[in-house]
Amino acid sequence: MSGTGPSGAPQRVGQVKEITSLSNPVIKDIRALSMKKHRDETRSFLAEGLKLVIDAIDLGWVIRTLIYAKAQRGKPQVEAIAALTVARGGLVLEVSEKVLTAITRRDNPQAVIAVFEQKLTSLEAIELRPDDTWIALDRVRDPGNLGTIIRTADAVGAAGVMLIDDTVDPFSTETVRATMGSIFATPLVRATSGQFLDWSARAGALVVGSHLKGSVDYRTIDYRGRPVVLLMGNEQAGLPEQLATGCGQLARIPQAGRADSLNLAIATGIMLYEARRHLLDLGEAAP
Ligand code: SAM
Repeated sequence: MSGTGPSGAPQRVGQVKEITSLSNPVIKDIRALSMKKHRDETRSFLAEGLKLVIDAIDLGWVIRTLIYAKAQRGKPQVEAIAALTVARGGLVLEVSEKVLTAITRRDNPQAVIAVFEQKLTSLEAIELRPDDTWIALDRVRDPGNLGTIIRTADAVGAAGVMLIDDTVDPFSTETVRATMGSIFATPLVRATSGQFLDWSARAGALVVGSHLKGSVDYRTIDYRGRPVVLLMGNEQAGLPEQLATGCGQLARIPQAGRADSLNLAIATGIMLYEARRHLLDLGEAAP
């Protein structure tokens, strides 16, 4: 049974399942989302935190299950997203602290978590605009690096992130945590290196490969007036020859010390802020 509450949000009556047992099959299913195989099969993933869940729903992501701690019952924001979840055909679970700890594998779990449908875009669906900056990542291995890059891409106003070949799963809990919510604001594309090279040959974007042996200082490239793709290499191997030769420019970030290279996420941040320098200002900073 449902009606409409004072805020206009639908109200739910008796549609919340209370669960305290770890052997409940629904909980087992949610816990299995820590495995890539299960995430792939169900095309879903877990996100943690009330603000993050609200933002994701606002941005149009499909919520499948809302899970909250018993102590959250009656809190207006939680009630509102619970009502929305029910209205959209999702499941709402009120669970014990023990169950939340088991799902998140954390001692101090967030009180609100949710299962969302995965969303990936294809290269063909991209409509490039002159001020667009995309990041293309070649076989990135570290979930923390990927999450940090997605967060930085969001912060700098990049158009999205392309995951090439065997790049780590963007929907793993570790990556989602490292994005701090930016996973919901950043379009993600998966492609093989062959598909990426075909697309970039036709797309009309300037592809800048970030390379330790790049011949050009990254600060001397003119990034203005055309879409740019920043292509970043794998943490161990760097960019393979096949991808490097597909780049319009190979850029190097100067180094002065003893380090062989920069961390991938740091290098991506440096490249991104330079490529979008002309598009960024402080706007109206909070006092
Ligand atoms: N041993 C690897 C190699 O030979 O390229 C190091 C890879 S580095 C940890 C990961 C990626 O970060 C590189 O492929 C490159 O895209 C970028 N990167 C790191 N330091 C850089 C620098 N000084 N100039 C340009 N790109 C850099």
